Amino acid sequence: MEKLLSNLQKDFPQVSFAAGETFSWSSRKQTVHYPHKLEDATKAVWSLLHEMGHALLGHTTYQSDFELVKLEAAAWDKAAHLGKKYGHSIDVDHIQDCLDTYRDWLHQRSACPKCTITSLQRDMHTYCCYNCNTQWRVSRSKLCRPYRLLQKETALS
Ligand SMILES: [Zn+2]
Ligand SMILES: [Zn+2]
Repeated sequence: MEKLLSNLQKDFPQVSFAAGETFSWSSRKQTVHYPHKLEDATKAVWSLLHEMGHALLGHTTYQSDFELVKLEAAAWDKAAHLGKKYGHSIDVDHIQDCLDTYRDWLHQRSACPKCTITSLQRDMHTYCCYNCNTQWRVSRSKLCRPYRLLQKETALS
């Protein structure tokens, strides 16, 4: 990953890079963060390319969970192109796994706690069921969720 990192630093001087807790992109600081300790070198390269995808696409904010899922897909698309340029091909299954995590998460958040119908998001924090009018709140979503979120969001009716 060090090689790729130094190439990216050279080729994209407008983007900063800094060690951090996890892989993430901060649009406010125009900085890609990467963890100190890497568990899997191959996946680290893919994650770095993914964050670079967010950076180069200028991702900042999003208005809904659905839009967030679209941004994640766009970042992977960009990452795959970028990877080709630097001689790293990203496993398509890995990309699908990551996007599935988001789709599962979206599905879970958008399912009505009362009647389980998939509903529309009203704003960043609220969903409303068009079937039974139940409203429920969700916490603000984050870019790049690398794990499966299993706990249910709290319902509010
Ligand atoms: Zn409902
Ligand atoms: Zn991402």
